[in-house]
Amino acid sequence: MKLTVLGCWAPYPRVSGACSGYLLQDKGKNLLIEAGNGVLSRLIQHIDLQELDAVIISHLHPDHIMDIYCLRHAVESANREGRMNKLLPLYLPSGPAEDFNRITSFTKAFKINIIDHLLEPREETIAGLKVSFMPALHNLPCYSMKIEGSKRFVFSGDTAYNPNLVKFTAGAEVFLCEASGLDKDAEYLKENHLTARQAGELAREAGVKELMITHFYPEYILSELQNQAEQGFGQKVLLAREGANLEF
Ligand SMILES: [Zn+2]
Ligand SMILES: [Zn+2]
Repeated sequence: MKLTVLGCWAPYPRVSGACSGYLLQDKGKNLLIEAGNGVLSRLIQHIDLQELDAVIISHLHPDHIMDIYCLRHAVESANREGRMNKLLPLYLPSGPAEDFNRITSFTKAFKINIIDHLLEPREETIAGLKVSFMPALHNLPCYSMKIEGSKRFVFSGDTAYNPNLVKFTAGAEVFLCEASGLDKDAEYLKENHLTARQAGELAREAGVKELMITHFYPEYILSELQNQAEQGFGQKVLLAREGANLEF
């Protein structure tokens, strides 16, 4: 499996940066997870659009979906010009209605699949990979996801501390987890997001091999987030940055 970070910022990017987006590749398949602003231009640095097999969106906040609107046009053009001959499978939650209805109106680009109907213990095969979803704790409907192919990968989505995430993540080779703040921000974040230390603690409790933290507010010093995540995890933690990749 190979994970490539396309964007790591939230809820707005640093200079020349991109919001949430990750390319996961396994067995010749290409899966895009999240499509925040700036992600599409980075995706096509790595693969041709027609090589993309599916897209999964954890939730419909702007920093996770804005490039869906660009991707729609790219897919429509590719189909019209014969470079592509398929609707792109797109997995997303069913709300909030306004965003969901707009995105699902792009019927010439996407084959829509609603994650709400695919929750654990059910599994879905997406881009040849076994994918299961679990509700996250966030102020919009949001899902954590486990993706199993040649290895096991878990992505937290945006979430507050969720004890269910420990079991869900158990035994993952790589856990990509949001880390939206420092210890001092715990009170502010507690309903919707994790601190870096909490991300580390979840990873330690789940016994994952490798933790990569992401979903950074641009104003933070990333080494401070990394330090607190490492204190929680008890070992080295990777920082998601555009272009970083991890083969496992
Ligand atoms: Zn977010
Ligand atoms: Zn969010």
